[in-house]
Amino acid sequence: MLPEIAQYFRLEKLPHMWCPGCGNGIVLHCLVKAIDKLCLDQDRTVMVSGIGCAARASGYLDFDTLHTTHGRALAFATGVKFAKPELHVFVLTGDGDCTAIGGNHFIHAARRNINLTAIVFNNSIYGMTGGQYSPMTPPACRATTSPYGNLERTFNLAELAAAAGATFVGRATTYHTKLLTDLIIEGHKNNGFSLIEVVTHCPTAFGRYNKMGSPADMLKWQRDHGVTAARYQNLTPAERADKFIVGVLHKQEAPEYTAAYQKMLEKFQGR
Ligand code: SF4
Ligand code: MG
Repeated sequence: MLPEIAQYFRLEKLPHMWCPGCGNGIVLHCLVKAIDKLCLDQDRTVMVSGIGCAARASGYLDFDTLHTTHGRALAFATGVKFAKPELHVFVLTGDGDCTAIGGNHFIHAARRNINLTAIVFNNSIYGMTGGQYSPMTPPACRATTSPYGNLERTFNLAELAAAAGATFVGRATTYHTKLLTDLIIEGHKNNGFSLIEVVTHCPTAFGRYNKMGSPADMLKWQRDHGVTAARYQNLTPAERADKFIVGVLHKQEAPEYTAAYQKMLEKFQGR
């Protein structure tokens, strides 16, 4: 491990439990690089995760960490931020954890605009529990619970977050590592709820069921299908069909929840 990032890991917890070629390690690398660039105090930075492959990330990181219950990472993170708004709080969650079991917590964290940075590891499947399809599994894709192809439509998580009230939304992939690092930095600087969706590769479950080849092939797929908004505009409808936009997708100004709560406390505690 590079010495400049080793300080952010609990080295005694390694080796990790992820499969060879899994994209989760790339996301962690980008996260700690972003934290390093932001010069965040390690003792005032909190990582909160739910359940699943991605959620194991908190255990490997040397910050204050909470590995919580399925779908509830944002609820725990809300409590941490509410009690100690001065802390830097990151939420590490998978597509199943965040958008199915945790879907309600997700929309309400976005609606409150509480100052958290949620990083959603979107590998389009439940990796840890055996490869079931999730709300982020694209139509027609295979999983253990959709052996003939998924019939359900997919959440557009970025649009959902924006519609619910998130004030910063970005998307990158495990191929676009510089973009991912920059989005985490920008998301952290946003004073409100920030969503960073990372399209990551799971060669063991999603890749295997959908014959996507090696981990390197899956990264090439991300390179070829994740396009900037400017490039997307110039594509024909047919060309757009299998592409998705990467970059900053949404920004808006809105009052931040813990600041509003603090103001109310000051007003009524004075009485
Ligand atoms: Fe990674 Fe998929 Fe293995 Fe989970 S099952 S560790 S997401 S490759
Ligand atoms: Mg998943």
